[in-house]
Amino acid sequence: MSAPSILAKNLRSVGKALLWLSRTALEQWERLIHSPYRRVCLGAAFSILPISVSIAAFSLAPDDVEKNLRASQKLVQTSIPMPAIADQINVVTTHRLVATHTTYLRRNDTLNAIFARLDIDDSAAQRFIRQQALAQALVSPREGVYVQAKVSADQQMQSMKIFLESRSTDREDTVVKIVKRGKGFTISSAPFRYETQQGMATGIIKTTLDDAAREHGVPEKVIEQFPLAFERFFSRGNKLDAGDSFRLIYERKLLDGEFVRTGKVLAMAITHKGQSLETFWAEDGTRDGGYYKLDGTTNQLAFIRVPVEGARVTSSFMPMRRHPVTGILRPHQGTDFGAPKGNKIYAAADGVVTRRRFNEGGFGYYIMITHDESRVTLYAHMSKIMPHIQVGTRVRRGEVVGLVGATGLATGPHLHYELRVNDRQVNPLKTPIPDKEELTTEELEDLLSNARVLTARLALLNRLQTAQPQPATEPEADSVQLTGDVAPASVKKKKGS
Ligand SMILES: [Zn+2]
Repeated sequence: MSAPSILAKNLRSVGKALLWLSRTALEQWERLIHSPYRRVCLGAAFSILPISVSIAAFSLAPDDVEKNLRASQKLVQTSIPMPAIADQINVVTTHRLVATHTTYLRRNDTLNAIFARLDIDDSAAQRFIRQQALAQALVSPREGVYVQAKVSADQQMQSMKIFLESRSTDREDTVVKIVKRGKGFTISSAPFRYETQQGMATGIIKTTLDDAAREHGVPEKVIEQFPLAFERFFSRGNKLDAGDSFRLIYERKLLDGEFVRTGKVLAMAITHKGQSLETFWAEDGTRDGGYYKLDGTTNQLAFIRVPVEGARVTSSFMPMRRHPVTGILRPHQGTDFGAPKGNKIYAAADGVVTRRRFNEGGFGYYIMITHDESRVTLYAHMSKIMPHIQVGTRVRRGEVVGLVGATGLATGPHLHYELRVNDRQVNPLKTPIPDKEELTTEELEDLLSNARVLTARLALLNRLQTAQPQPATEPEADSVQLTGDVAPASVKKKKGS
């Protein structure tokens, strides 16, 4: 057989192998691209191909005739262009029939922006969504909502799920499903439930509690809840110092096994100067529940000290000051909390709305809430008062009553907040605030039954902490958490500990 024909035969079999490979690759399609590990294998397969071609070429056993022929032959080298692995994988992934894309809605999001993030280019789907009352969450987006879409290779929306979490603990979460059927779409809504896991962390404080938590991989959204979980403790000027420690259990929410977000702190213990303090979340009739000890007494105050999301104090309570807009010297008997426009303003405590007004030359949009015989709070310069907040509306501690703005006489977006006790304005950051009420017997029973597992886990975390020297580095964010039952196998027992 002549060299060219052997070569041809070999090339044929290489061709066949290539054909087989690509066919198999196509068949294994979905599976291949679902796993990053397999993508690597796929990449490896593509890089091995050119090597096999060369091996096939070199394995031709040349006889003497061929040697002579070769001597008279010119070596023609042609490199077969192989696209980069990244490009190959790209080709592979874009040819997938339907891909799942996810996003979280942002403040001031638009339907166009949401579609772009989901990699959808489908004007029919947009038109449909705009007309649906059920899909309002996308048209006037609610921050943080989780959206999942199945999208075809030509960027057409095959289906979409909008996961709407209820704003209060007594209502169900619902998922709105939009499905492409023929040339149109259908929309429906049904309850859904997250699968929940418990994330756990423990650590010893070197600088601050927040830093220690961060260092041990606790997500920011969870760290933000610490002041609430130990509100009484911190409001008395207590601070955790180097050598103090924490043990923490919080919710992790999943859908079909995929992590979506963290939830609330379920239980937490801190040790301060050798003294331990535990807090457990419980339903207490308020919007978000609250934090209690196992005897049913609260770890919180009756009033939220800073009733606005993401605030910093820009002008504190003082008897007299020059007004930033009018320049007139007059008492400023509230506290200004600077915060971005649109941030949520919360009712500081349970109460009834007793005023809802617009005052062009002063407070702008403002409301007042009467909490008991002696206490009233006032919230001013709002960009918006929530529509359901009317004179006479009963509100709960933590309920959103309005959004931060700069209406009326204001230099920039902030909440002007007043706490009045017996008609006298007091400094909301300094005045003694009574504790939140104790749990009812029934609420305490619920707390105790939930706390059985949690206390066992806190104790386990405590053992881990005392048995294990603090590691220098921990993996990032959500990967660290010991989830579910902790296997203490990795714990090295220190002698004498
Ligand atoms: Zn003010």
